[in-house]
Amino acid sequence: MDRLTITGYSTALFSTWIFLEEMRILFDAGDGVMAGLMHKSGKIRHVAMSHADRDHVYGLMQVNHHCAHRGLEALFYPAESGFFKGMREACYRFDRETQDGFPWVPVLAGESYDLTPELGLKVVHSSHIPAPGKSLGYIVTRRFRKLKPEFQGLPQSEFEKIGRDKGSDFLTEPREEPLVGFSGDTGVLHPSQWAGCKLLIHEATFLHEEEMELEREGYLHSLLPDVLQMAQEAKVDRLLLIHFSSRYKSSEIEAAIREEAEKLDLQIPVHFIPPGRIVHDALRHQVWPI
Ligand SMILES: [Zn+2]
Repeated sequence: MDRLTITGYSTALFSTWIFLEEMRILFDAGDGVMAGLMHKSGKIRHVAMSHADRDHVYGLMQVNHHCAHRGLEALFYPAESGFFKGMREACYRFDRETQDGFPWVPVLAGESYDLTPELGLKVVHSSHIPAPGKSLGYIVTRRFRKLKPEFQGLPQSEFEKIGRDKGSDFLTEPREEPLVGFSGDTGVLHPSQWAGCKLLIHEATFLHEEEMELEREGYLHSLLPDVLQMAQEAKVDRLLLIHFSSRYKSSEIEAAIREEAEKLDLQIPVHFIPPGRIVHDALRHQVWPI
């Protein structure tokens, strides 16, 4: 993965949508997604929805309308969530011509889907909603073929002979490596789920324990220090933090990230999307290391 251009907006309770331009995938479709992306929306090939909280879905009708006949190939959503079936029906009634546009694909954690011949989409868990499968995360993966260990060190002439006799696929086996993880809304999960991601896009709704305690009765969210520690353990290459509560100013978030990263001696570059703002190239500005 070379350069990744990420356009997005993400503020807890209000709206979240994150578009990975080179991978042509949109994660979640909160209010304002089409107005924020404008001409870029024509590049969307896949949409992956994490859950049906209103701040993540209110832009769906516009996504459906704008993208149905402009190359959108599939929309993935949590199979256990009743909302999306109803939403699809509402979209079809409202914009009849979109019915033959693209499939809405119900997904479960543990499944994998093809995005392109080189890119896959793995569906992973989220702990946001206690009922299993109603909230999900995703990992975009790179698929490739690797030489089988038993053929390593073989002379070139042997390779060619086996390739001719049995086909080149006989020499290699399929592999998949994680590229970009998207947590959706969630409490912090075991680091193994995100191990080795080149980029992890993770929510960090709360900066401090006290504020999270105050809202304990709602669905689960993540606390900044816990996310940083988990990302360190998962050995991800880069971290993009999203979904901060609107109670925080951008400067406050920056200071908190630096303070916590310093404590952990964090070895990972950190970026964030500040509340209330559309960011057009989220990986351009780095908040840690300074
Ligand atoms: Zn949310």
